[in-house]
Amino acid sequence: MHLVFFGPPGAGKGTQAQRIVADFGIPQISTGDILRAAVANGTTLGKQAGPLMAAGKLVPDELVIGIVEERLKEPDCKKGFLLDGFPRTIPQAQSLEVVLQKQDKRIEHVVSLEVADEVIQERMKGRGRADDSPETVQKRLDEFRKLTAPLKAYYQERGLLRTINGVGSLDEIYASIKQSIGR
Ligand code: ADP
Repeated sequence: MHLVFFGPPGAGKGTQAQRIVADFGIPQISTGDILRAAVANGTTLGKQAGPLMAAGKLVPDELVIGIVEERLKEPDCKKGFLLDGFPRTIPQAQSLEVVLQKQDKRIEHVVSLEVADEVIQERMKGRGRADDSPETVQKRLDEFRKLTAPLKAYYQERGLLRTINGVGSLDEIYASIKQSIGR
């Protein structure tokens, strides 16, 4: 099973991803988590990405594409994977397609969690992460609308987009996700 979780910051991708991991035994690959670890460890990657993340901007495509390409070579990805927070731009999606083609794989479902901006601002208030101030959240939402939202049409055209209402109980949302991926 090769899945992508798609949606604005605070849509609940990470929470729902954990349930998929537990149910299906595939790894969750979160570029946000990988980048935060790099920042915490003070690596070269972390030094490049840190200031951009703190400003609510996307990090350059080349950096995240490299991360994902390496990660997908790990043996735990053999049975499948769930990408969370990647791809976030059209060039990232195109590179992903090429990387997977080399391994004779392809994405089966892109699960889009739909949540209105006002609901997101409300949710993020409680989270307390460094890049969660209202101003930074707004910047991340703007980046999402500008650079990431066009991916919906991209995956719609390929017949892969599964649109889910991201507002409701965690169980309800998870049930919709499973139904949308035919499980
Ligand atoms: P969110 O809460 O927005 O889902 P993530 O944990 O996915 O946040 O990402 C946090 C930050 O890491 C983003 O705001 C961005 O700066 C950076 N980032 C994560 N994934 C990507 C990506 N695929 N492309 C570019 N930047 C990314």
